[in-house]
Amino acid sequence: MNKIKKKQIYIPIITAVISLVFLLGINYNFMGTKDKSYVEFLNDMSKKKVSTVYFTDTPKIKVKLSDGKIYETDNPRIDNFKETLLKQGVEVSETSPSDAPSIIFMASFMISIISLMIALIRSSNITSKGMLSVDSLDASAIENAPFTFNDVAGNEEAKESVMDIVDFLKNPEKYSSYGARMPRGIILYGDPGTGKTLLAKAVAGEANVPFYAMSGSDFVQVYVGVGASRIRQLFKKAKGHGKAVIFIDEIDAIGKKRDNSKTGGSDERDQTLNALLTEMSGFNEKEGIIIMAATNRLDMLDEALLRPGRFDRHIEVSLPDLTAREKILNLHLKNKPIKDMNIKEWAQKTAYFSGAKLENLVNEAAILACKEESKFIENYHMDKAFSIVVAGYEKQNRDYIKEKDRKITAFHEVGHALVSLKMLPNEKVSKVTIIPSTKGAGGYTLSIPEDSLYQNKDYLKKRIMVLLGGRAAEELIFGADYITTGAHNDLKQCTNIAFHMITQYGMGETIGLLNMQELMNLNINKDNIINECKELVDNLYEETKQLLKSEEESLNALTEKLLQKETLHYEDLEMLGTVHETLA
Ligand code: ADP
Ligand code: MG
Ligand code: ZN
Repeated sequence: MNKIKKKQIYIPIITAVISLVFLLGINYNFMGTKDKSYVEFLNDMSKKKVSTVYFTDTPKIKVKLSDGKIYETDNPRIDNFKETLLKQGVEVSETSPSDAPSIIFMASFMISIISLMIALIRSSNITSKGMLSVDSLDASAIENAPFTFNDVAGNEEAKESVMDIVDFLKNPEKYSSYGARMPRGIILYGDPGTGKTLLAKAVAGEANVPFYAMSGSDFVQVYVGVGASRIRQLFKKAKGHGKAVIFIDEIDAIGKKRDNSKTGGSDERDQTLNALLTEMSGFNEKEGIIIMAATNRLDMLDEALLRPGRFDRHIEVSLPDLTAREKILNLHLKNKPIKDMNIKEWAQKTAYFSGAKLENLVNEAAILACKEESKFIENYHMDKAFSIVVAGYEKQNRDYIKEKDRKITAFHEVGHALVSLKMLPNEKVSKVTIIPSTKGAGGYTLSIPEDSLYQNKDYLKKRIMVLLGGRAAEELIFGADYITTGAHNDLKQCTNIAFHMITQYGMGETIGLLNMQELMNLNINKDNIINECKELVDNLYEETKQLLKSEEESLNALTEKLLQKETLHYEDLEMLGTVHETLA
């Protein structure tokens, strides 16, 4: 391949050089020609020494003598000059003597230059085509990706969510015989380093199918159309192999929400995105191709990507909690020589570490041990590595701040959970965590609402109380001066519910059964409405505080447990709830 390409370039170079040499040679020949006066020319004429006269319209004419010498002389510009010459038996040529060969060489020079340029453009095209081709883009399949679910520690929920995908990849026929439609696309979202890529590889590994990976940023190119063509090649390649997992990392690079300010760059992105959507709808269920994508921010993605039939399954891959961190540390320390290491303790110390950061920590410790030629990786290696990994922060200080933040978050979340358990016992609180996620910056409490068509006034008031539970717990434990910004979102939702109750649902006094929207055009006094909302929420807040005060024992116990475990599940809560009930 390469040799042919090189020949294509060398041939025109050689011909160009040759013709250039000749061209210069001819010109040199003529540069050597001397001018002679017209009288001398006439003299040569009378001596019959002239063989040819090159007769053009220029001020000079060229004269070739019978001995081959050439010189120039002035063009007399007389009438019948040609006839006079011809009569004396002199040949007359109406082109310059250098013209014929120099035109030939000039032409051959031009041709070689042009073909050289074509060859260069082509060869650069070949290389850019090479870049276009998926091969050189690191999307070569990792056949039988050597990863399995065993390489992914923690992340149990995410693993569970992709289990059926593995099964589908193994027997797509089974699913299609039931007419079941598998999600074509799956989006893994979560903080960097939480193991999204790892999980995608594990899916391919478990199903024993090739894994094709590319990053969204590979598709975003300066040249319009390159991204789209890369997408097509990626799919073509994957389809050529039958079953496969196609993984697109950083999908936000191409699938970001379209903004109204259209620039050239976003045109390119649109093309790429459209190519992706077209390709995704372009194969049928039986083929056993699954497209997985990863992003740090699900809310940044264009809705077009998230529609059914596209990336319609969204799986959160969250930061590991205590148990998960222990598992991850164990996994990465598994085949390393360790001594006297308390992995449990390290799991505790590494709150908010991602899987990648934990892996990094273990690796740094191993490097330190290796540098010292120590036989084992010991606790003090981990200590040093820890400082390296969290470098940039004053360690103690940071731990102190963290510990305090953790405590605030824990009380806040338990506040929500407890109020929910007490006020809305039919709503299952499935998870309370202080591990931040896209669901909440500090932590979050997840409850499964009761299924019902209508929500009554009593329920809405209780929902407000649950939302206020976080703030109420903070105030109760830390004092009114130490409440935090953590309740920002809760308060927003509270306001929303209260406002709707009073202005839309006819549950208030100020406008009674009237609907605020219908009254919008009338210039009614809104102060009264705001006051009523405030009074409603204020009263509910007092009630919430009272409730938590009477449950302070549970509040403390649950918080203690949450700080310890970082995540509490339904079972943990239920247990504590009943324990309290029997106490009461
Ligand atoms: P992401 O794609 O979410 O940014 P990666 O999958 O690239 O994260 O993770 C980077 C590395 O961190 C992995 O190769 C692995 O060594 C480690 N890691 C991350 N999460 C886990 C996990 N849950 N279990 C084991 N290792 C993990
Ligand atoms: Mg990644
Ligand atoms: Zn809250």
